[in-house]
Amino acid sequence: MINLSIRQLSEMLQEQQISAQELCAVYYDRCVAHNETTHALITQRQELCAAEMLQAEKGIETGQLLAGIPLAHKDLFCTRGIKTTCGSKMLAEFIPPYDATAVARLKHAGMINLAKTNMDEFAMGSSNEHSAFNPVNNPWDLSRVPGGSSGGSAAAVAARMVPVATGSDTGGSIRQPAAFCGITGIKPSYGRVSRYGMVAFASSLDQGGVMAVSADDCGLVLAAMTGHDPLDSTSAPEKPLQWKKPNDTSLKGLKVGVTQVWIDSLQDGGVKKRTLEAIEYFKQQGAEIIDINLPHADLAVSAYYVLAPAECSSNLSRFDGVRFGHQANDAHNLESLYRQSRSEGFGSEVKKRIMIGAWALSAGYYDAYYLKAQKVRRLISEDFKQAFAEVDVIACPVSPELPFKHGEKADGVSMYQADKFTIPASLAGLPCLSMPIGFSEGLPVGLQLIGGYFDEQSILSVADKYQQDHDHHLRIPEAFV
Ligand code: GLN
Repeated sequence: MINLSIRQLSEMLQEQQISAQELCAVYYDRCVAHNETTHALITQRQELCAAEMLQAEKGIETGQLLAGIPLAHKDLFCTRGIKTTCGSKMLAEFIPPYDATAVARLKHAGMINLAKTNMDEFAMGSSNEHSAFNPVNNPWDLSRVPGGSSGGSAAAVAARMVPVATGSDTGGSIRQPAAFCGITGIKPSYGRVSRYGMVAFASSLDQGGVMAVSADDCGLVLAAMTGHDPLDSTSAPEKPLQWKKPNDTSLKGLKVGVTQVWIDSLQDGGVKKRTLEAIEYFKQQGAEIIDINLPHADLAVSAYYVLAPAECSSNLSRFDGVRFGHQANDAHNLESLYRQSRSEGFGSEVKKRIMIGAWALSAGYYDAYYLKAQKVRRLISEDFKQAFAEVDVIACPVSPELPFKHGEKADGVSMYQADKFTIPASLAGLPCLSMPIGFSEGLPVGLQLIGGYFDEQSILSVADKYQQDHDHHLRIPEAFV
């Protein structure tokens, strides 16, 4: 049961071989059984919501494909009446009075929310060690990190505590944890999924997306989350994504761009070997492999770590203990109320980024840092534009390394540098996914596929084809079978 695809689960529900209640109970029990070891979830629902169940049953009757399928939401999506902490003490007690648009849409599709998943505080991090609620453990090796910031969602899917979870990605937070946990994860084009009700980190980069077993599962759930939302001014006026699982995907003639210099730079022999094998598979299937050049991509990490902190310092100013967030209870004047509430509520990584951002935006430095970084961002977008004039998709590594041990990357900068393959597509707002391409030293390796703007269909189709011919994505860590 726990390795069935969403289409298979849906068929069982439609044919009344199982009820939505029973299906949820299977996964609910797994959430309870495995949270102790993984810490993948921050909040588990004590009882399922009757209204959601009713919506699911109605959806099953009318043949809605996602009706009755359980899921978990990353804990930065506001969920009405359910705690939404964003992995922070600052929001430890926050119970939103409304649903994020993405949450509301999936509810409307009949999906049932079982839990809220753990994450790096305010989505800042690549290891989940920055969560205020226990670091998440990687189901493939509990002494290792699951990646971040959507590490809870990735671990929950890898351990099959839920068949699918939402995630968010600002500079790699869906793709890198998906790669580290051996699952599939898609970050759509910027503007595809409404950010309304998603706690903001860096508004010009944040995108909601999906983490699941397969590309097909990701496509089905993503499609239901998309479409213009008047409540988000950056929501694109596009029609909702129509994910069509191709009947006969042939890669013949497909132009796959490869950044050879990135692959050559890989120090980890296992990651390199799997990456080359996946590219060889595309070639065998008749794709044309074209070496592409992204001359400014080397500057992406530096630009991102100016832009993202700058936006975060502005976004997080609202958490002052008065308007939003934790309030210190022994402050003696307004200034100390602000100071103490923020000192107590935020963790060290968040404080560091607020300080970097405030500094980069300050009058004397704005031109030298923020403006310069914006220009670099534009150059990177242009690089991609040129590349996509020649190719249909780009295939490249997700992370230069295998999942690392907890505490191994205590210095922040080496963790930042490990984002070098995921950040460029984020800066350009392009759709991208990570899919499992095998193992090295018993740990999963992912491959990144990047598509042209609003062309989620191509990257999902290529991943779907790969997954028809391979079964890496179906493997479950032994302790969770
Ligand atoms: N690892 C990156 C960071 O720490 C990306 C995080 C994200 O995508 N939310 O900012």
